Amino acid sequence: MSRSARLVPAVAAVTLLLALTACDDDGAQDTPGARGRDAAGAAGVGAEGVGDPYFPEAGNGGYDVSHYGLALAYTPDGNRLTGTAVVTARATEDLAAFDLDLAGMTVEEVTVAGDRAGFRRDGQELIVSPPVALSEGETFEVRVRYSGSPRTITDPDGSKEGWLRTADGALALGEPTGSMAWFPGNHHPSDKAAYDIAVTVPKGLTAVSNGELRRTTTAADGRTTFAWHTAEPMASYLATVAIGRYTVTRSTLPGSTGPGSGSATGSATGSGSRSGSAAEGGLPVYVAVDPSQVAASRTVLARLPEVMEWAEYNFGPYPFSSAGAIVDRPEDAEYALETQNRPVYPGAPDLVTLVHETAHQWFGDSVTPRTWQDMWLNEGLATYAEWLWTEDEGGATAEETFTRLYDHGEDEYEDLWAFPPAKPTSAAHISDTPVYVRGAMVIHRIRRTVGDDAFYDIVQGWAAAHRHAGAGTDDFTAYVEKRAPDEDFDEIWADWLYGEGKPARP
Ligand SMILES: [Zn+2]
Repeated sequence: MSRSARLVPAVAAVTLLLALTACDDDGAQDTPGARGRDAAGAAGVGAEGVGDPYFPEAGNGGYDVSHYGLALAYTPDGNRLTGTAVVTARATEDLAAFDLDLAGMTVEEVTVAGDRAGFRRDGQELIVSPPVALSEGETFEVRVRYSGSPRTITDPDGSKEGWLRTADGALALGEPTGSMAWFPGNHHPSDKAAYDIAVTVPKGLTAVSNGELRRTTTAADGRTTFAWHTAEPMASYLATVAIGRYTVTRSTLPGSTGPGSGSATGSATGSGSRSGSAAEGGLPVYVAVDPSQVAASRTVLARLPEVMEWAEYNFGPYPFSSAGAIVDRPEDAEYALETQNRPVYPGAPDLVTLVHETAHQWFGDSVTPRTWQDMWLNEGLATYAEWLWTEDEGGATAEETFTRLYDHGEDEYEDLWAFPPAKPTSAAHISDTPVYVRGAMVIHRIRRTVGDDAFYDIVQGWAAAHRHAGAGTDDFTAYVEKRAPDEDFDEIWADWLYGEGKPARP
């Protein structure tokens, strides 16, 4: 997520209360077969959250998802979404019942392994009781048929996510919890999965999502289905759907994941009717731009290949099998987001925002935080990428940026020293300045301690060690210490990462 475009209204407490109240309108939707939490019998009931310190209800215990198959149909007129979600998961304990996270929408039917299951709603929890209890280790498929008007979710900090309606369609953003507005799932970054997302939209509209466009099919009535495939594990907060009129540009980069190594090839413009695989070598790039933003974003998007090359040089091989961007109108969202493969930008991004969201593909998307307390690992590294880019471009060095912020940072960011990056004061503060800027300052302290060669080894090694997985702050500090055993990081961890107040001058 990019702070540069993020607006934080000062109405957090009130909107949170409203959001919580609004989420609680589904309690009546029980089915006769649904069991209560305390009536589960011998097999257990999966926990209603994974124990995130900031979002305790996010995610669910008792299973691990490997794949989401989403078939969605959306009509902007009336904001009508119908969906079928097929969630393939493995039980990690015996389960008489388990939860999925889903905010709003009407659930019409739930089956487990093809048989009708009981279900009931309790706030954001969709509690499923399979006809036969699941055994630990068993892989199962739960299918949820649902429909309704997907909602926009107001975060504890007042920002908007979930399903955002736009002038010509919709945009789904999911950090930290918004994806539960448009599909049922295990909505916590600790459970990553592969995805197939197929979206059917009215004639003339395009539906863009993560990964590669496998096919488009147009029905007799003109409605078109766009089927997207994401093979590499993705946290649900990075899933996106963008529906509207887009100018689509497809091209290829010399990608580390593709067999080819030729230079960038020609692009095609159109509404995307061909397959977008990497079969011909190189990394497929799919860029969708709202027609009103094409002119303003042309110059910056033309630098995406250069930014990707720079990022690979600094952070190691690009972790995914496709890339791109979604540029909507400035009023469509309050912030840019690092949606996997294809970040979302509200309006033409500036170059450092492009760098920031590109860096997130390594830090956040490939190496995903274990809990929302580890958000600084995303934002500290992505912000530091901005500093590095500026330094490499001949602007301020990272050292100059660090010193300026240490000496005068309060002038730019009132809350710079409000809390330590690894301990935001509450869920309302996980996207605040210390997580980004002081997080980047922690990274710079590490660089200054170990020197440039060791620093880039650490950054690339970290991205490689946890590629396509998850990691927490403890993993990071242990990794840095392991890679630089002769250095002492105690003061950096104690004062800069976890310590309250402005640390002493280093
Ligand atoms: Zn970010």
